Amino acid sequence: MNRREFLQLFPFIFLPPRSEELLGKRRPKLDKFGFRPKAGEAFRDMQADARKDGIHIYPVSTYRDFWHQLRIWNKKYRKYGDVQKVIEYTAIPGTSRHHWGTEVDLIDPRIKLRDPLSSQYFESGPFSELYLWLKKNAKKYGFYEVYDKRPERKGFKWEPWHWSFSEESVPCLKQFLYLDLKIHLKDPEILGSENFDQEFLTKYKQDYILGINPKLMP
Ligand SMILES: [Zn+2]
Repeated sequence: MNRREFLQLFPFIFLPPRSEELLGKRRPKLDKFGFRPKAGEAFRDMQADARKDGIHIYPVSTYRDFWHQLRIWNKKYRKYGDVQKVIEYTAIPGTSRHHWGTEVDLIDPRIKLRDPLSSQYFESGPFSELYLWLKKNAKKYGFYEVYDKRPERKGFKWEPWHWSFSEESVPCLKQFLYLDLKIHLKDPEILGSENFDQEFLTKYKQDYILGINPKLMP
């Protein structure tokens, strides 16, 4: 039996110590902007250098805890009544990378839009200059686009606004993969969770949690 199989059999005994943090149920150490300190430092360096190139970067969303994600999820589930529709853009509470303090959704704050996190605005609209700058420069600061535009990528739709600080998010993902989703997502608070059977969860893990930029894979 390998370590992974062992953990699957005895998840309660051998929960990784940071599991509560990874599930958004305990706050990691964060700066006032909702980043882990190292990610925050790198972000501010990137933001300052972008400014020198005339690019304004504003973080609209960084850390979100489980209950915040739960409110987003349940609101969408009430609207659509269909898990497949909700997971186009929204992670199941407990599985959002925003629980880790390593992620950020970015916009240009000078442009006021009702629903700024839309890929059309980044592709050729008002945030295209910002997006091009990020594509070229973000890696110098350790940030990578998570749900990129490769046609072969499955899972969440293209999210050109969502960037991840790889140095800290890769270890988070590595530990997260040891968690047994069947146990953690069977939560009556999560609307629609009765649909999370083994087949669904296997696919969710493979296509959604691992349907990311290869630069962010453990
Ligand atoms: Zn995001």
